[in-house]
Amino acid sequence: MKTIEDLLNGYRRFRRGVYGQQVDLYARLARGQDPDIMLIGCADSRADPSDIFDTAPGELFTVRNVANLVPPYQPDGSLHGVSAALEFAVGNLGVHHIVVMGHGQCGGVKACLHPERQRQAGEFVGPWVSQLDEVRDRVLAEQPSDPQLALELAGVHHSLKNLMTFPFVREAIAAGRLELHGAWFAISSGELSWLDSQEDCFQLVSH
Ligand SMILES: [Zn+2]
Repeated sequence: MKTIEDLLNGYRRFRRGVYGQQVDLYARLARGQDPDIMLIGCADSRADPSDIFDTAPGELFTVRNVANLVPPYQPDGSLHGVSAALEFAVGNLGVHHIVVMGHGQCGGVKACLHPERQRQAGEFVGPWVSQLDEVRDRVLAEQPSDPQLALELAGVHHSLKNLMTFPFVREAIAAGRLELHGAWFAISSGELSWLDSQEDCFQLVSH
C-alpha cells in the first residue's frame, strides 16, 4: 500500500469483505461502544494491536503514540491527548483493563537511546521521547546486553507507573474495577510477551 489509490482500494475490499460480513455488528456499534479493554501502543506501522490481538470493531479502545508513552498526571490545562483518552476510557467507558504494549525495533526508544539522534529527532519527537531519559540512564547503568530491548521493556514499566499517577486510575483499581497490564511484541518473530506482575518480568505467551 503506497498510494492513496491503494488506500481507497483497501477501503473497497473492506466494504465488500469485512464490513459486508459485519453489517449487523456495525449497526449495533453505531448505537454506542462498550469496550472492556484499553490498549496503549506505539504508532509504529508494524505493531498494529487489532492485528496482533485479532480484535473486532468495538472491542479495543486504542491510543497509539511514539513509543507507547503515558505522560504523568498533569492537570495544567495543556493539550494532553493520552490523558484525555485515559479519562474517557476509565471514566466514561468503564474499561476493566488497560494494556501498555511496547514492541521491538521501536524508533522512539532508539531516538531516546541515542542522544544525538534525539536532538535531531525534531521539535516534538525529541522532547516527547525525553520522557524516558531518566529510565534510559538507569537502564544503561545496568549495562544490559541489549540496551534497545531493555529500554523498550523499561518503557512499558514507566508508562504503567505513570498510569498510577492518575487519581481516577488509582480509584478504579482500588475499587476492583480496573487492572493494568504490560506487553511487548517482537516484530521479527511475531511473538508476544506478557508482563508477569508477580515475578516482575515479561513471559512469552504460548501460541
Ligand atoms: Zn515504537
